[in-house]
Amino acid sequence: MKVYYNYLPKQFSNTTEIFKDWKKLISSSEFTLGSFMRDFEKKFAQYIGVKHCIATNTGTDALIIALKSLGVKKNDEVITVCNSFYASAGAIAALGAKPIFVDCDNRFQIDEKQIEKAITKKTKAILPVHWAGASPNMNKIVSIAKNNNIEVIEDACMGIGAKINGKSPGTFGKVNAFSMHPLKSLNVMGDGGMITTNDDEIAQWINKYRNHGMIDRDNIEFWGVNSRLQPLQAIVAMHGLKYLNRIITKRNKNAKILDDCLSKIKNVKIPRRIKNNIETFSLYMGLFEDRDNLMNYLIKNKIEAKIHYPIPLHLQKASKSLKYSIGNFPIAEQQAKKLLTLPVHQYLNTNHMLYIIKNIKEFYMNKAK
Ligand SMILES: *Cc1c(COP(=O)(O)O)cnc(C)c1O
Repeated sequence: MKVYYNYLPKQFSNTTEIFKDWKKLISSSEFTLGSFMRDFEKKFAQYIGVKHCIATNTGTDALIIALKSLGVKKNDEVITVCNSFYASAGAIAALGAKPIFVDCDNRFQIDEKQIEKAITKKTKAILPVHWAGASPNMNKIVSIAKNNNIEVIEDACMGIGAKINGKSPGTFGKVNAFSMHPLKSLNVMGDGGMITTNDDEIAQWINKYRNHGMIDRDNIEFWGVNSRLQPLQAIVAMHGLKYLNRIITKRNKNAKILDDCLSKIKNVKIPRRIKNNIETFSLYMGLFEDRDNLMNYLIKNKIEAKIHYPIPLHLQKASKSLKYSIGNFPIAEQQAKKLLTLPVHQYLNTNHMLYIIKNIKEFYMNKAK
């Protein structure tokens, strides 16, 4: 048996529906902005349960523009978690602002108890991440922000289709960002991103900013950028949205099988699941003793396991000027040595999960001999 990590060849093996709409797009020539992209923006806003969605070229752009829309600028500080994807910090740095890291908890989410002591006079916002498609304690984070008169910008790039007590990621912060990178729960054939907000004025500004600051063809209100979602991708996303809930259900079913068995193995730690939340399982992660050897063993047995990520953000070379060092964030640093991501995507079934479990058990049994 082979347990592939990459589901894209399967997902896009039948493109009939997409090609049909691409033909419509091609005959309309609406290649920039246009009705296909606007339709998708409307549908996505509805799906998430927000007033406005503005589609961008990438999730990273969505983060940068979201931060900029709230006035984050040079020398401001923005608090985020040290165990995220690079773009959470990179977007802050792109505006000349300073990423201030906070440790994560044993669910791999920003530890909200560490946030308050990271706040200074320069803090402009908190940028919590829905890491792996699970969610941090958003209600608590929103209340910390309110008490300190700063903003919340959610990095919900992995969180499309997740729920916190029935509420979607990307509905808690003032302005929030999503990604449709091929490995996210709603994905396109390349790059894509979205910004969501309930604020009319900010939505208007973002709409113009991502399109050169244009009022119309001859008039520019302020200098902007070109970060429009390609209508070709909007069509892919529109079709993806139809299948999203089914995909999340299937991933949750696979994850539950792993959770039930792996949580009984003493060399393995699976994060606690929160009863009223739904996770997307963009990544199914756990902590595994002797991780590197286990990973090699799994790969040898054709199970494509991965590590997200071996080096936390504060220990990256890119963070050098921020002057962090080993020991600053012990939870994330310890986890980085034991983290392993297992495939649970929608094209895998119970047999694949049982095969993964069997191999993990075998590895630890052989080791104990
Ligand atoms: C993927 C991801 C991003 C960046 O999105 P892109 O669309 O690849 O630019 C940002 N933050 C997190 C947490 C992500 O997972």
